[in-house]
Amino acid sequence: MNNASFLSKTKLMSGLQCAKKLYFDFRPPNIVTMPSPNTKYHFDEGREVGQRAQKEFPGGTFIDVNYWDYNTALALTEEAIKNGALTIFEAAFAYENFFARIDILHRGTKFSPWQIIEVKKTTSVKDVHIPDVAIQSWIARNSGIIVETEWLMFLNNRSVAPHLEELFLKENVSEQVRKLTPALEKQLRELSQMAKKGEEPKVDIGPHCSEPYQCPFKRHCWSHVQVPSAFDLPRIGKKAWEFYELGREDIHLIDETELNSKQKRALDVHKTGKRFVDKKAISKAMKNWSWPIYFLDFETINPAIPIFDGTHPYEQVPFQFSCHVLMDSKTELKHFEYLQKDSNDPREPIAEALINGIGPVGSVVAYNKKFEEGVLKRLAERFPSRREQLLGIASRLVDPWPIIESAVYDKNFFGSFSLKSVAPALLGPAINYSTMAISDGSQASTSFMALIKNKLHPKARALLIEAMLDYCRQDTLATVELVNWLFKEAA
Ligand code: SF4
Repeated sequence: MNNASFLSKTKLMSGLQCAKKLYFDFRPPNIVTMPSPNTKYHFDEGREVGQRAQKEFPGGTFIDVNYWDYNTALALTEEAIKNGALTIFEAAFAYENFFARIDILHRGTKFSPWQIIEVKKTTSVKDVHIPDVAIQSWIARNSGIIVETEWLMFLNNRSVAPHLEELFLKENVSEQVRKLTPALEKQLRELSQMAKKGEEPKVDIGPHCSEPYQCPFKRHCWSHVQVPSAFDLPRIGKKAWEFYELGREDIHLIDETELNSKQKRALDVHKTGKRFVDKKAISKAMKNWSWPIYFLDFETINPAIPIFDGTHPYEQVPFQFSCHVLMDSKTELKHFEYLQKDSNDPREPIAEALINGIGPVGSVVAYNKKFEEGVLKRLAERFPSRREQLLGIASRLVDPWPIIESAVYDKNFFGSFSLKSVAPALLGPAINYSTMAISDGSQASTSFMALIKNKLHPKARALLIEAMLDYCRQDTLATVELVNWLFKEAA
């Protein structure tokens, strides 16, 4: 069978999310959102976790074939089984036109039934993992092997570097797989029929466009939804779908009696185009802020497999910060920053630079302060001798986010109060992330990993460092401008 005739597990999972998505996987529309560098980073990280999991099964046979070379993978798997392999990595199976590769296929002896082990880089079993394993098991069993149990192997978030002997946990999901299989089989056959027919299925947009994964065809399928719509109201969640189902998602067709007070305010702003500002509420919320004012922003990494001692999977570790300082309303803005440029643990130099740079009094502004607070508290735990100073900084954190959420709304927020939405809407084109080489936090994280892992050409390295510093600086500068804007409104 040639590759184009096969329906791989990845395609089938796409089809379970939405039949039209599977159709578009084969015949993409004109508008497709391309995967971001962050998607590639997560893909590579998943592969790294998979390779690490293989080390738990020494002596396994790796079916070392590119993912598109289905027939060679099938032939090598068959040979490995015949030769009595007890563990096979990336084993390939086909049944009719269905195809799957299994992360780890294991048996105790060459006469024992097989165990299917699917490796995930999550720290728990998720609902979406069950059909994933069930598809593999259904294909493998129908291709002729005896499968006794299905397992999910995932990261143990209690494991702490460098002692990663128990980095993985395993959960037997055989019962869920057995329960799901009859209904799943029906769905898989329907998807196969649909793929053979080649007709675009009639599927409307719905929550499935983002769940469990963001669909790359949203811009195509959502082109009939007016902007702004119910989907652009703050914290609207599933309620937006109720309006959509009634054909009333257009902002002008929404009855405000069905909304909470903040959504009503947003609706009014969208209808009138007039910005909402509650000056008194801003003034009240900021009355206890004190000079000097520091504006702090961390960039962090949270690798699936921890790389620094004392950290667990996905722990946020700071590698950079930017801090702007306003001594009072009249003096010039000052700035200091730190960026770790090598693979050493960045936490101690970051803690030192913070303590040296942030004086003993004054408010410390962080947009969405919970994040900065968490970083500071973990640093305090890590360095008991600096605990008091670090917790002191944490205790002085103030946050413009809730002030803006309760007292300001602009039509260009589109329901979001993140800094990237609020700053350009209130401050205009001077605050613009779209032209920056690094324009969001996840890009900053992947840049840091590139900086410490790759052997970059010195020129590329210098440019990357400059882009990383520019990005973090832009975040604190935007916060400074935003706070100045709030002060002016409150005056
Ligand atoms: S955007 Fe939604 S409806 Fe369109 S293909 Fe994706 S999931 Fe299906």
